[in-house]
Amino acid sequence: VFVVFEGGDGAGKSTQVEVLRDRCERAGHRVVVTREPGGTSLGAQVRELLLHGDAVSPRAEALLFAADRAHHVATVIRPALMRGDVVISDRFVDSSIAYQGAGRSLTSEDIAALSAWATEGLRPTLTVLLDVDPAVGRERCGVSPDRMEREAAEFHDRVRQGFVELAVQDPVGYLVRDAALPVEQIALDVWSRVAPLLPA
Ligand code: C5P
Repeated sequence: VFVVFEGGDGAGKSTQVEVLRDRCERAGHRVVVTREPGGTSLGAQVRELLLHGDAVSPRAEALLFAADRAHHVATVIRPALMRGDVVISDRFVDSSIAYQGAGRSLTSEDIAALSAWATEGLRPTLTVLLDVDPAVGRERCGVSPDRMEREAAEFHDRVRQGFVELAVQDPVGYLVRDAALPVEQIALDVWSRVAPLLPA
């Protein structure tokens, strides 16, 4: 079972990841929690380059995120799924479709094809989209914004729209929640979708 949390900066993904980890573990499942960019040591270096280095051209940025993802899938996610662990990732392919696609104005088809190649077609069992107003998300992010967080409001509006467009196409594969709802309310809704997916 592979659960992904997606959404704009400051949506509260990392909080929900930890609540879900706790619930899965208490239900007796082994859980691997990971994130993109940065779920491997290569990824941590890519993360540093992308978020705190010089500006990167849009295609190079897309390829670097894809490289991180390819290595992440091959060395962390697939091995854990093969062992039967529950994998929870903070961001995955949809973040690239939203940020590098909608945000940077590359086509979502190109990013989807690049991602499918990088992941050898791995798809989440369920994606939870925490939909956040970018202005609210920015407030929640705090004081030291990274390169993406410093982008203009229009960029973040396109990113938000990019996420929502993915979710509306596939109601079975997505749970969408307003990130302004109380943490525990969102967590309950997530658990009611995830629990039936877990092995007996
Ligand atoms: O979620 P987290 O804060 O760890 O993400 C790090 C940064 O990378 C965020 O600013 C996010 O907007 C950006 N990002 C991106 N493209 C991705 C994944 C993350 O621009 N595919």
